[in-house]
Amino acid sequence: MDRVYNFSPGPSALPLPVLEKVKAALPVYGETGMSVMEMSHRSPMYQAIIDDAEARIRALMHIPDTYSVLFLHGGATMQFASVPLNLGVKGEADYIDSGNFAHGAAGEAAKYLKVNVVASSREDNYVYIPEWEGKLNPEADYLHITTNNTIYGTHYTKLPEGKAPLVADMSSNILGEAYDITKFGVVYAGAQKNIGPAGLCLLIVRKDLLGHAAATCPKVLNWTTQTDNGSMLNTPNTFAIYVAGLCMEWLQGQGGVEGIEKVNREKAALLYDYLDNSALFNATAQKEFRSIMNVTFVTGDKDKDAAFVKFAASRGLVNLKGHRSVGGMRASIYNAMPMEGVKALVETLKAFETENK
Ligand SMILES: *Cc1c(COP(=O)(O)O)cnc(C)c1O
Repeated sequence: MDRVYNFSPGPSALPLPVLEKVKAALPVYGETGMSVMEMSHRSPMYQAIIDDAEARIRALMHIPDTYSVLFLHGGATMQFASVPLNLGVKGEADYIDSGNFAHGAAGEAAKYLKVNVVASSREDNYVYIPEWEGKLNPEADYLHITTNNTIYGTHYTKLPEGKAPLVADMSSNILGEAYDITKFGVVYAGAQKNIGPAGLCLLIVRKDLLGHAAATCPKVLNWTTQTDNGSMLNTPNTFAIYVAGLCMEWLQGQGGVEGIEKVNREKAALLYDYLDNSALFNATAQKEFRSIMNVTFVTGDKDKDAAFVKFAASRGLVNLKGHRSVGGMRASIYNAMPMEGVKALVETLKAFETENK
């Protein structure tokens, strides 16, 4: 069978050249005589792999030495608890509730400190980013945001600028659009959207925020301990880190984050333009907050939505069903989705619309 265009929100499509490289080196990696999966994480040959992955991420995101870059377990969700455990010195934090993951992060943090939800669009099905201006607590330990809301297809068009360190769950748009890392205290992201295979979390933390973890913080969740141990307090997800490194190499070949962001904007514009002019399909996120990674849309008729998802799958375009909490459709068009895939989707939308006038 040929490869499909996979619009999955995560785990998501990986670049084919990366898969081919992994395949070629699967039984024997370089001159080592073994697979990366079989290497000791303490071996010099593995150290070279993790160092290379980190160096590429630092280069791609322009991360200065004043930040620590960690490869952790537990996906992004584990960090919902790690963040308050590492930063909750005074015991109070601000959260902006812009989607289900943002809501989940706040709920988990509330087990460890006092959470102030300073702005929320929950009542409006999260179709926009709520306004926080004038509501931030300058004394908070940190302010937590979710830069791209995977389920609803919205993203921040400006960043909050408060006194408290900014902590961002960037799972679904990290490396897909450029950010100035120095605006953040902490950035974390589950790997399975724009970084590599699932089961890995990338965490970037400004070093002056280290050293304040709660006494009850488990060792594996402690960013200071993990920094001191080069993400190897225990065995890390060695294979996922290796594949992530290959994805970063591929991304550098695409002109880096700045290069791919340009393509991502073109991909999203093509899709939104079609939706805005369609008599059948409608984009659901408020225009000014539209994500360039996750495009959500509906026909307004559940049966037609289901029929479209089926029709698209028959043409080799899969995983277009929206999240179970919102319905409709969602096209996740992360870095590895080529422009051809988005063009094929627009053609498919057109064909369906013609048949269902
Ligand atoms: C996918 C996603 C998560 C969950 O990531 P896991 O790695 O499954 O824990 C959290 N936040 C956002 C914004 C996501 O898109």
